[in-house]
Amino acid sequence: MRATERGAILRDEACPVCGTAMRERKGRLKLAVNGEEITVPDATHLRCSRCREVVLRVDDARRLRQRALGIYREKYGLLSADEIRSIRERFGLTQASLARLLRLGGNTISRWEAGRNVQTGVMDMVLRMIRDLPGSLEYLKKHVA
Ligand SMILES: [Zn+2]
Repeated sequence: MRATERGAILRDEACPVCGTAMRERKGRLKLAVNGEEITVPDATHLRCSRCREVVLRVDDARRLRQRALGIYREKYGLLSADEIRSIRERFGLTQASLARLLRLGGNTISRWEAGRNVQTGVMDMVLRMIRDLPGSLEYLKKHVA
């Protein structure tokens, strides 16, 4: 049971809009990844049969995000989390120093390496250049702000 802002008590799986019992179903849901809408075809969620409100439980939301990141990674043929870590380690960079070279926020690389977020296609290409093009890392180091 949970209380709404107005103080009414709802059953756990009652629609927050109209109070009807919601049903679990699988269907298409969209989630933004790096600013792009990604459609997950079979996302588990609760849906109100009366007003069509959709509610995600915490686990539903986590799975939806993981699926969306996977679809995005596959769509652009991105390096995996492990591949990013191995490139960074090969060049003796910390997560923070690689983030600085790429002008990214301090936690970005750890989020990529943990699979909690995914790099854009442009950043993927820069990582491949560091890996494959000798001199790229030195070039970035020369231009770091
Ligand atoms: Zn409803």
